[in-house]
Amino acid sequence: MPDISEVEVSAVDPQRLAAVLSDEQMAALQAAIGEARRVFEGRTIWNINSTAKGGGVAEMLAALLPYARGAGIDTRWLVIGGDDEFFLITKRIHNRLHGAPGDGEELDDDDRRHYEEVLAAQAGELNLQFRPGDIVILHDPQTAGLIPALVDAGYPVIWRCHVGMDTPNDDARRAWNFLLPYVRRASRCVFSRRAFAWEGLDADRIAVVAPSIDPFTPKNYEMDGESVHAILSAAGIVDDGGRRAATYTRVDGSPGRIQRRATVTEASRIGAETPLAVQVSRWDRLKDPLGVLQGFAGGVVGRCDAHLVLAGPSVDEVADDPEGAEAYREVKRAWEALAEAAQGRCHLVCLPMDDEEENAAMVNALQRRADVIVQKSLAEGFGLTVAEAMWKARPVVASRIGGIQDQVEDGVSGILLDDPRDLTEFAGAVCRLLEDPELARSMGEHARARVRSNFLGSRHLAQYVGICAELV
Ligand code: UDP
Repeated sequence: MPDISEVEVSAVDPQRLAAVLSDEQMAALQAAIGEARRVFEGRTIWNINSTAKGGGVAEMLAALLPYARGAGIDTRWLVIGGDDEFFLITKRIHNRLHGAPGDGEELDDDDRRHYEEVLAAQAGELNLQFRPGDIVILHDPQTAGLIPALVDAGYPVIWRCHVGMDTPNDDARRAWNFLLPYVRRASRCVFSRRAFAWEGLDADRIAVVAPSIDPFTPKNYEMDGESVHAILSAAGIVDDGGRRAATYTRVDGSPGRIQRRATVTEASRIGAETPLAVQVSRWDRLKDPLGVLQGFAGGVVGRCDAHLVLAGPSVDEVADDPEGAEAYREVKRAWEALAEAAQGRCHLVCLPMDDEEENAAMVNALQRRADVIVQKSLAEGFGLTVAEAMWKARPVVASRIGGIQDQVEDGVSGILLDDPRDLTEFAGAVCRLLEDPELARSMGEHARARVRSNFLGSRHLAQYVGICAELV
């Protein structure tokens, strides 16, 4: 059985946020830090999930925890392991929580036995590391089965569910039924939006906390146009990087250099002036890369001169997502079947994941290079990619689902698609932004302001402090 591993978390002084927050926001953050130091003195706060890289949860922990450590709070991050079968089961649960049948297999008693077996061994290991007074924050279905053992051992356990649906269906309820025996035992259950809270849970144990992004990580820090071009060129996504070295700033402030290249499937190259629509996501059917490709080929190619980049992690590299490779193969087959004109305008990009910060810098550069950012998901917990794009003042076309609705105010800070499966609506929205740079600019500005006031780590940390403080 694979072991639990620890992800090293650096310390970042929260004072750094003063560069982007208002005085009022900064004062609230300082107050939360003061309270945290008092409440968490002598305690460790353990965050546990199932992958150190790839996907929104890893992204968020990597961005948020350094501030907690920088504020003097002993926050740590552990990653549990599992075998292929375990991650097949948890992916099945994940899809169901999003209301999708996934591989269509039932969640049966054998699955439960295996899920519990994998987690029981690890709960024992965790118990040896924790000390009385510690607080445990478990993330997502992969870790939910740890709750009873850790609660029985005396730790306050917060379970945070990052996925959900606005109107639950039978698939979602099947996943709840699988997880409820564990989740019911948690001291608090945290959902990204109120509508995601499950039936059958005590109302007073439910908390709602939206995710956040960090403006200073390699994923989001300010990059000028030349750096963007140099990074994309070194990654093999565009040509002729100019004279600027393809460097970026790592989390600890040291310089990094782009050393790896993306794997690109394309029939033409992206030029320096080519208008771009970009979707960055894991290769997952719920992100609807096929719909984006077909909507773009069918509705944008004949009308505007923009190109599409569909970018995701190099397949096989996201530990807890066994379906990525298959989903990518589907997109590649669909690209191969496109007419020649559309093929020349659509680019599939697999970004290397060997070094997460290098990968993040590539995503940052791609998002900044985009004229329009797309997130045409069929289901979405929150959609960090949307906040990332909005922070970069990019106009967004995204589905009116899940947490995306909390981020984008339709027509003001982006365009929401009422029906994510309607490819005509999708193509129309993309063209509207491509054809009206003033509208795109104004939406981008509103988007950035919206993230500043609602979706940065300061708000997020303060909410965590409040929840944890209630439990100790
Ligand atoms: N991401 C990345 N590299 C990739 C593809 C995605 O770093 O090649 C990141 C993306 O920038 C975002 C996260 O993965 O920070 C995805 O989070 P989101 O909430 O959008 O979706 P999830 O993957 O959690 O469903």
